[in-house]
Amino acid sequence: MSFSSSDLEAVKCLLCHADDAEPRFTKDGLQVVRCRRCHLLYVNPRLTAKALSRLYNNDEISPHSYYRETRLADQKTFSKRLDLLQQLLGNKKKIRILDIGCNIGTLLFEAEKRGWECHGIDINAQVKSFFKNSKVELRIGDVIKSSYLKNSFDLIIMNDLIEHIPNPQQLLLKVNALLKSDGLVFMVTPDGGSFMARILGKRWFHLKPREHLYYFSKTHLRRLFRDTGFMVTSFQHLGRYRSLDTLATKSASLFGPLSHFVHKVFRFLHLDRLVVPFNLYDEYAIIARKS
Ligand SMILES: [Zn+2]
Repeated sequence: MSFSSSDLEAVKCLLCHADDAEPRFTKDGLQVVRCRRCHLLYVNPRLTAKALSRLYNNDEISPHSYYRETRLADQKTFSKRLDLLQQLLGNKKKIRILDIGCNIGTLLFEAEKRGWECHGIDINAQVKSFFKNSKVELRIGDVIKSSYLKNSFDLIIMNDLIEHIPNPQQLLLKVNALLKSDGLVFMVTPDGGSFMARILGKRWFHLKPREHLYYFSKTHLRRLFRDTGFMVTSFQHLGRYRSLDTLATKSASLFGPLSHFVHKVFRFLHLDRLVVPFNLYDEYAIIARKS
């Protein structure tokens, strides 16, 4: 895929501001580089915020069709994560939650079942139709520019989000402002320093330079949170549930025809919808509090 020059912008390192990076991978017509000073992996040049917004709203990246297909597995993943967070939040009467990048709302509908007050925001206007008969308050747009009340949320969720955001520090500063003093942030993002990232290189599932602009390691994430007023209380490779269908599709880039064959077998045996726990230890789940 090629892009016009007006769709692209050159950037410096997000963390140390150096303009000194070496090329690592080229994929989907874009280049992932590594900062020679702090070793952050990032896309440069990358798609502009305007070009990205167009792709999200045309459903060309992070399409809602994908989240509809993974809904069953996601429900199980999110329900387990919410159990953990509910325990950590203690005896709050009514948890006020914001899911940033909520897409079709799978996590929020799980939270709604618990009687929580649910808010979601997403950049893709096409997701509106999924919220028609729910009590979830959905906004379309950029959370950084949003007008939510300060200090008003008990829990802010960012699943698979920060790697998509051109300016992660601004995002975390906004999240810090919106969170109550005793609130929690829960975030999941690919682990750029993971074994899978290192051995698979450009074939790593999370290496998607059109939409994933950054691949943070633990050191980078600690720094990001510290610089934006947070204390990280937990770093874990939590894993998630996946259907055999999704696993077969995702592994096609690695195993090609073998994956297609296995996929057909799963379908023949009606096992494709079967949901199993899955963990490649290449995604961080982070829980943080205001410091
Ligand atoms: Zn750097």
